[in-house]
Amino acid sequence: MSRRVSDIDWDFTVKSENGIIVKVNARTERSAKSNQRSAEQKKPLTHLPRAYVKRPKTAAERKERVAEILRRLDRMYPKATCALHHHNAWELLVATILSAQCTDKRVNEVTPGLFAKYPTPADFAAVRPEVLANDIRSTGFFNNKSKSITGAAKRIVQDFGGQVPRTIEEMLTIPGAARKTANVVLGTAYGIASGVVVDTHVQRIARRLDLTKNTDPAKIEKDLMKVIPRDKWILFSHQIILHGRAICAARSPRCGECALAGVCYSKDRTV
Ligand code: SF4
Repeated sequence: MSRRVSDIDWDFTVKSENGIIVKVNARTERSAKSNQRSAEQKKPLTHLPRAYVKRPKTAAERKERVAEILRRLDRMYPKATCALHHHNAWELLVATILSAQCTDKRVNEVTPGLFAKYPTPADFAAVRPEVLANDIRSTGFFNNKSKSITGAAKRIVQDFGGQVPRTIEEMLTIPGAARKTANVVLGTAYGIASGVVVDTHVQRIARRLDLTKNTDPAKIEKDLMKVIPRDKWILFSHQIILHGRAICAARSPRCGECALAGVCYSKDRTV
C-alpha cells in the first residue's frame, strides 16, 4: 500500500546543492487505517514535512548565505525593475509620491493623463494644490499628495533648474521625498545607488531572511547597505518587492513555491 507524506515518520538531514544542511522531519499525524483526517488535524499545517534550515554561525557563512540569496533572486527575478510607468526622473518622482497607500496599477492609470495636462515641473509648480488634488483624487490622500507634488515642483524649478537632483542629500530637501522615494528615483531613473529602497515588502522580507532584526525602515536600510554589495542595492530592492507581491506575502507566504526556501529559516515559513 502506498503511504502518503502525512503517514510517515521522517527525521533526517539532506545536503542541498549549495552545501547547506537541511533537516527534514515529520511526525505521524493520522492513522494509516483512517482515510479521513479529523477536523483538529485539518487546522494546522504542522502535519506537512517542515524543512529546517541551519542558521549561519560564522561571518564567512553569513556572507556566503547572502551571496546565495542574491544568486537565487537573480534567477527568480533577473529583470526586476520599478512597476511605475515614467519617462524621466520627474515623472517617476510624481508617480512615487502618488503610490503611497495606492497600487502601482492605479497610479499608472492616472499618470498618463496627468503628464499630458502638466508636461513639466514648471506646469506642476504653477497649478494650485486644490486643483491638482482633483486630478489625483483616485489615488487617495490626494490633498497631502497634491501639496507634496506642487511643493516638489516649486523646489525643483527654483533651486535645481527644473531638473530632479542627483544626490540623496539634495533629494531629501524636496517636499514629499523621504529616503524611500529618493532611493527609488535616484536608483531607477539615474542608476545611482544611493541606498536600498525599504518599503513594506522589503521591511517584512529582510526580517524573514534574517538580513536585519530591526523594524525601523531607516535602521533596516542601514543593515541592508552593510550586507548587500553596493552594485546590487538597486536590483535587490526591486527583486524583493516583486518577491513580496508574488510569493512572500505578509499572510500565508507561498514557501512551497519559493526558491529561497533552502536558505530561509523564518518562523513565518509555511513548509
Ligand atoms: S521561504 Fe517563505 S518566508 Fe522564506 S522567503 Fe520564501 S516565501 Fe518568504
